[in-house]
Formats: sequence, structure tokens, C-alpha cells
Amino acid sequence: MSAPGALVLVVEDEPQMRRFIRASLTSHGYRIVEAASAAEAVALMTTQPPDLVLLDLGLPDGDGIDVAKRLREWSRVPIIVLSARGREDDKVAALDAGADDYLTKPFGVNELLARMRVAERHAEAAASPTAAQALKIGDLELDFVRREVTRGGEVVHLTPIEYKLLALFARHAGRVLTHRQILKEVWGPMCASHPHYVRVHMAELRKKIEATPSRPRILVTEPGVGYRLRDGS
Ligand code: CA
Repeated sequence: MSAPGALVLVVEDEPQMRRFIRASLTSHGYRIVEAASAAEAVALMTTQPPDLVLLDLGLPDGDGIDVAKRLREWSRVPIIVLSARGREDDKVAALDAGADDYLTKPFGVNELLARMRVAERHAEAAASPTAAQALKIGDLELDFVRREVTRGGEVVHLTPIEYKLLALFARHAGRVLTHRQILKEVWGPMCASHPHYVRVHMAELRKKIEATPSRPRILVTEPGVGYRLRDGS
């Protein structure tokens, strides 16, 4: 699934927003199908399976979060949620329901295309038999095989939890992860009620890998939602 020619399902009830997305994506070689309601979205998913879904959360016949849950019952297609500013709880609920990312309205064409590229890359990587063995961001390098992290060639000593955290973000480079997702992956499903674990260990990890921990450039905060590892795209 390479970007040009990929089929995108646009689920959005506002005609002007659909027009904007259609114009932006078709001029970049994407093909699109459009749904103006939750019911139409679910129907189109089966008749014209897309390579990626752009999903508005406020739909006339239901909630986009429920659409994401429905789709996740049988499909791993990348889902990017389109959400209004200030609806952080909705974004978190959508991500926890299985959406891959979100865009806050209004957004620009370049932002949309960049998020779509990240989601497509992850879908490709997930389908590939061999996982990436290393990750490089600026002068930071993570070698998954040797479980070694270096910065400017110097070994960075991480605790097991810090390594698990960094490796988790590296596997999801460019993607936002919610506090709940981080807790579940690093500490296990029993720890969902301890969000302070994440804050404390993220602070320690940033001290070791960020040039200026108070202004992180690698592990950035997504206010009200979670964290994202910048992947330079
Ligand atoms: Ca709407």
C-alpha cells in the first residue's frame, strides 16, 4: 500500500469539510470514497475496503468513536480521527477505541498528508514480517537487537522501565499514545489507575535523552491526550 492511488474513506457530515479533503487528497494522487453518516461508513467499509479512514467524531446518526469500535472488530485499517479543538476526552476515547491518530480541526493540507503518511507507514510495518531493528532520531540511536541506546555515540544508561517506554514509542514513532495505552503496554493492564507512573518515568527518560528536558524535542507532550515520539516527518 503506497500513498499514490491509495483509497481513503472520508467519513464527514460537513459538505465543505468533505470538499476540502477531497480537493487536497485527489491532487496528491489519493482516491477517495465519502460517507456522510456512521451507517454509510460501516456499509462502505465492506463494499469498498479502504487503505485508510478519516473519521469525523460528530456524525448525524451516531458517534465516530462507535464507528471506530465497529471497524476494529474486523479491520486493522489505519483510522485518523478528525476532532474539534478542546475535545481532548473524545480524542482519548477514540484512540483507546483503536483509532491510530487524530487531527484537530481546522487543519492544513500538509498536516493531513504527514499524519496519513505516518499511519500508512505503520500499517506497512505491521504487515511486514521483519520489524525495524534500529531507530535514529537526530543523535539518538536505539538498537532493538542489542537493547542499547546511544546519544552522540555515548551509551545512555536506562532503567528497564525507561527502556520499555522508549522502545514502545520507537515502535509507534510519529504516533500519539494515550496514558492508558502506555500504562497497559509498559506496566500491564492492572496499572490503568496509576497515571502518575507515566509522568514520573517520562520525566526521568527525558532527562537522559533530551538536550533540554523542559522543552522536549523527541518525546513531545500532546496536551490532554498523551505523548508522541517525533519521527522527523
Ligand atoms: Ca461533524
